[in-house]
Amino acid sequence: MSKRRYGVQEDNIITEYSDNNFTKKDSIRRFSLQLESSINKKESNKNIMQAIINAYIIHILFHIEFRSNLGLAFIYFAIIEGICLIIMFINLIKIISKHKHEYFNIRNTIDSLAILIGITIFIIEFILPYTYTYTIFKLGSIYRFIPLLVFKFKNKTIKQGQRRFSLLPFRTNSERLVNILRSLRTLDFITNDTTIDSQLEWGIRVICNQTLYSFEVISENKEQDELINWALSIRPSANHISQRISENSIVNLEGEIPIEIRQSLKYVDKLRFDIFELKKASENNELATICSFLLSKYDIFKAEGFNKDKFTSFIRIIQAGYYQNPYHNSTHAADVTQAYHVYIEDFNIKNLFNLNTFDISCCLISSSIHDFQHPGLNNAFLMNSSHDLAILYNDLSVLENHHVAASFSIIKDKNNNFFENLSCDLYRKYRSKIISIVLATDFSKHFKEISKLKLICKELNTENDKEFMLKILMHAADVSNSTRKWKLYYDWAQLVLEEFFSQGDREKDLGLSISPLCDRNTVNFAKSQIGFIDLFIIPMFSILKDVFPKFGKALKNAQINKDKLSKMNEEENEGKSVQDDLVVSSD
Ligand SMILES: [Zn+2]
Repeated sequence: MSKRRYGVQEDNIITEYSDNNFTKKDSIRRFSLQLESSINKKESNKNIMQAIINAYIIHILFHIEFRSNLGLAFIYFAIIEGICLIIMFINLIKIISKHKHEYFNIRNTIDSLAILIGITIFIIEFILPYTYTYTIFKLGSIYRFIPLLVFKFKNKTIKQGQRRFSLLPFRTNSERLVNILRSLRTLDFITNDTTIDSQLEWGIRVICNQTLYSFEVISENKEQDELINWALSIRPSANHISQRISENSIVNLEGEIPIEIRQSLKYVDKLRFDIFELKKASENNELATICSFLLSKYDIFKAEGFNKDKFTSFIRIIQAGYYQNPYHNSTHAADVTQAYHVYIEDFNIKNLFNLNTFDISCCLISSSIHDFQHPGLNNAFLMNSSHDLAILYNDLSVLENHHVAASFSIIKDKNNNFFENLSCDLYRKYRSKIISIVLATDFSKHFKEISKLKLICKELNTENDKEFMLKILMHAADVSNSTRKWKLYYDWAQLVLEEFFSQGDREKDLGLSISPLCDRNTVNFAKSQIGFIDLFIIPMFSILKDVFPKFGKALKNAQINKDKLSKMNEEENEGKSVQDDLVVSSD
């Protein structure tokens, strides 16, 4: 079966060592010991070389001053000078053999010539100590200053270089990391090992190009291809994509139905909560109801100084601004808000990350607005059809940018500005946090964010990683349907597919290529849902469960749902029509 790769990586260098090299504990220990001793050795070699050069310099000065009076003692000084020169010569040969022809720039060539001429003069003087002519004596004395000058010049250049860089007003962690990796690459045993050296080179490139979270997904079959294309908003290849969809084609949901309801909120803290029950009881007022209820429950109005009346006005406008799409409607927003509340309260995120009322209100408000004015069409469609929103946001997280921007434009109206009592600073903090949380619902970031989660979850820092976790949990809440009980999940899954298919129908009408998962004639319900749970839900919730065990409930539901879908798929394949039975027999 052919495998296809998606996403971008720096290159195809294997990023993990093979089993017999470095994954075994003793190998890693050996590697680190080797590294440590090599660093120590290199450091002591550097110190010895420095001492030798210093000795040589002192010797030259002493030699020039007292040479004519030395007599036979000259022989001892000659030996010291000879040893210094030999060591410098050996060091030179070592450097040249390591760097080969790359070593010979002008400065290094003068440096090596100086040492070689120094050796020549020394040999002549040593062989003919009593017969040297006055000229050679003078030449030798003057010449000894040349290596000294070369050395001083090199030192000055290095210091100037360092000064130039230190003029930068900042130093980043990535710069420090790259410096560490670069100095590792100069170690002899690493230079000699091309595998490790290329790994380090790759690491440096990843940091410099800021591609730390670039990823690669390999699909194994057609269904996975389609799911990945959908998740990454990969646009179907099309011959003509210049059709423009007018803003007016998006139908506005009109009217608000104010209602007071509490009874159906009985299981509001639990994953088994049924949003459709609240929708019925509140007469389609589920989003405004659940938001006001949760904000009061966490005492946010009082603690954060929100104007309650203006919030009510705001959330009603938000609710009314959700279009009547099969899936991306105010019920979905209410459902996601409740899911996030479950994570905060029942799954213990509040205590683990010391969430305060500011954090909690950001999460709940973000959840409630996260699909505001969703047109029931995905980013790929908006981009392909050159929709006004795609133009406005330069094809970058088009819908997500719109949801948050349109919501803030409602807050701008003084009648809805529930933030009015907040200081400018605090308002800016709210705005920035809500924007970042809503933008995290862009599904095309899924693989990147999950790979980051996988990386940091082993040493999670509840303070530093809080912001990232709040974004990941927003994404998790947004796709939490398949982690609910079967009946709820099944209903949502039908609705989402209905919305996809209506996009597909629209694309067909407009002569556009049909987006992944949107063709009602080819997409199989059970198969596509199994793929979705396998590819996105189980990996994400497995990591979350490892860090926060309470997510085990959600993971278990997803696995049960997947099993039921598999059974459904098998039965479909056997030609039985059991769909209705499954709905009825669900818990
Ligand atoms: Zn959503």
